[in-house]
Amino acid sequence: MDAVVVGAGPTGLVAAVGLARRGHRVRLVDDDPGPVGDEQWARRGVMQFHHPHAFRPQALDVVRAEVPEVIDALLARGAEPMTMDPEAPAPVDGELPPGTGLRCRRMVVERELRRVAHREPGVTRVPARARGLVAERGRTTGVQVGDARHDADLVLVAAGRSGRVGEGLRAPEESSGCASAYVSRQYRLRPGAEPGPVTSVLGAVAMHEGYTVVVFRHDAGVFSTLIARPTSDRRLVGLRHEAAFDAAARAIPVLASWTDPARSRPITPVLPGGRLRNTYRGQLDAAGRVPLPGTVFLGDAVCTTNPIAGRGVATSLMQVERFLALLGEHGADHVATAHALDAWCDEHLRPWFLDHVATDASQAAQWAGEDVDPTRPPTSDLVVSATAADPSLMRVVGPYLGMTAPPASLVAVHPRVREIYASGWRPPVADGPTVDELAALVAGASPEPSPEPVPEPVPEPATTRA
Ligand SMILES: Cc1cc2nc3c(=O)[nH]c(=O)nc-3n(C[C@H](O)[C@H](O)[C@H](O)COP(=O)(O)OP(=O)(O)OC[C@H]3O[C@@H](n4cnc5c(N)ncnc54)[C@H](O)[C@@H]3O)c2cc1C
Repeated sequence: MDAVVVGAGPTGLVAAVGLARRGHRVRLVDDDPGPVGDEQWARRGVMQFHHPHAFRPQALDVVRAEVPEVIDALLARGAEPMTMDPEAPAPVDGELPPGTGLRCRRMVVERELRRVAHREPGVTRVPARARGLVAERGRTTGVQVGDARHDADLVLVAAGRSGRVGEGLRAPEESSGCASAYVSRQYRLRPGAEPGPVTSVLGAVAMHEGYTVVVFRHDAGVFSTLIARPTSDRRLVGLRHEAAFDAAARAIPVLASWTDPARSRPITPVLPGGRLRNTYRGQLDAAGRVPLPGTVFLGDAVCTTNPIAGRGVATSLMQVERFLALLGEHGADHVATAHALDAWCDEHLRPWFLDHVATDASQAAQWAGEDVDPTRPPTSDLVVSATAADPSLMRVVGPYLGMTAPPASLVAVHPRVREIYASGWRPPVADGPTVDELAALVAGASPEPSPEPVPEPVPEPATTRA
C-alpha cells in the first residue's frame, strides 16, 4: 500500500516507521529543516517544542514496540528512566522494565525518532508543506504538495494541534481553554553539581497560592523550570521577560535552589507559551460518517489536553498503536478502520479530555478565589490534592495518575474526599510569594509597563457534547 503521512512530529514519525516496517511504502511530508548539530533546533510551527516534556510509560511502550532502537539511543544520551513506583526494578542492560517513562528533552527524543525514520528503507522524506488532500469519487487519493501531487491509498494527518490539512471534514471540535499558561526556561547543572531538592518523579512540584511551579529533570544534567500561571491574570504576562523570570526564580524557594548560579546556568532564553486548549475531534463528520475514506487523523489532530499532566505524546502514540493494529485487522477497508479507531478514541481518550475540561474549570475557579464546595462531586484535581490529607487514597488515585485507570475510577473515593473537604481541610500551599507578590515582582522587573488591569473574564463555557 502507498501511504502519505502529513507531519513529522512524534505521531507522524512513529506512524511512518510502523507502516514501513509492516511492508507499506510511506512518504513523510514535513517542511521542518531539522536540527543543526546536537543542540539547536528552531522547530518553528511546534510552539511547545522547547517547553518541558516528560514521557509517560504509555508513550515508551509504543516506542519500544515500533522503534525500539530509539530507547537505547536515548539512554545513551543521558535520558533518565522515570517510574512512579519506588520499588520498580532498575534497568538491566539498558532494558527498561514495563511501566517506566523517561525524563528527557523533547528535542532529544524527536531527534532520535527522526534519525530512525529518515534511515528507514520504506520511508521517503518529502521536505515540503502539504497544501491539502486530493479526493476523487468520494475518497482520498493523495496529497497536494506545492505543484506536485503524491498519490496514496491512505493519508495519515498527523499535523498537530494547529494543522489545517483536512480542515472542515470532521464534526466541529469540542474544546475548552486551559486554566494555565506556560513560561519556562532550560538550564544545565554545572559539572559535579548535585540536582536541587527532588520532591516528585518529574523533579519538583510546588503548588503556590495562585500559580504552580514545576522543575522537570531531563537528560544529561539539563532541566527546565516552569511557572504555570493563570491565563486570566494578565499581570503575570511579563514573566516572559528575562529580568522578571529571574526575579521570580530568585523569590520562589524551589526555583531559587535549582537555579542558584553556583548550581546551574540557563541554556535557553525564557520561553513564553502559546494559547493552550483542551480539544477533542474524532474521525467522523457531523452525521457520524467517515467523511473521506482513506484519510485518518492522529495525535494532537485528535486530542490535546492541558500539558501540565504530560499526556499528549502518550495519547498520540497510543492512537498510532491502535491504528496500526486496526489496519492489520481491516486491511484495505479504511472505512472500517476509521470507525473502529474513532470508537476506541471515544472510549479511551475522550474521558481524559473531559477530565481536563472539568479540572481546568475547577483550577480557574480556585485561582479566582472560589472555595471548594464539598456538596458537589469533587473534580479529579481535588481528589488528587486530598491524598495529602489521606495518603490511603493513593490506592485509587495512583493508577489514575499513572493513566492505568480511567478518570471514572476516582468516583470510588468521592465520599471520602467530600468528607475531607467538608471537615474544612484545604490543600497546603507551598512557601513563597503569593500571586499578588509575584505580580508585584514582575511589575518591578519588566521592561514594559504592566498592562492595565482587565476585568476577570467570564469563564468560557466548554463546548462538549453530552
Ligand atoms: C506547552 C506544552 C507542553 C507539553 N508537555 C508534554 C509533556 O510533558 N508530555 C507529553 O506527553 N506531552 C506534552 N505535550 C503535548 C505534546 O507536545 C503533543 O502531544 C505532541 O507534540 C503531539 O505530537 P504530534 O506529532 O501529533 O504533533 P506535533 O508535534 O505538533 O507535530 C506536527 C507536525 O506536523 C507538521 N505540519 C503541520 N502542518 C503541516 C502541513 N500542512 N504539511 C506538512 N507538515 C505539517 C508540523 O511542522 C509538525 O512537524 C505538551 C504540549 C504543550 C503545548
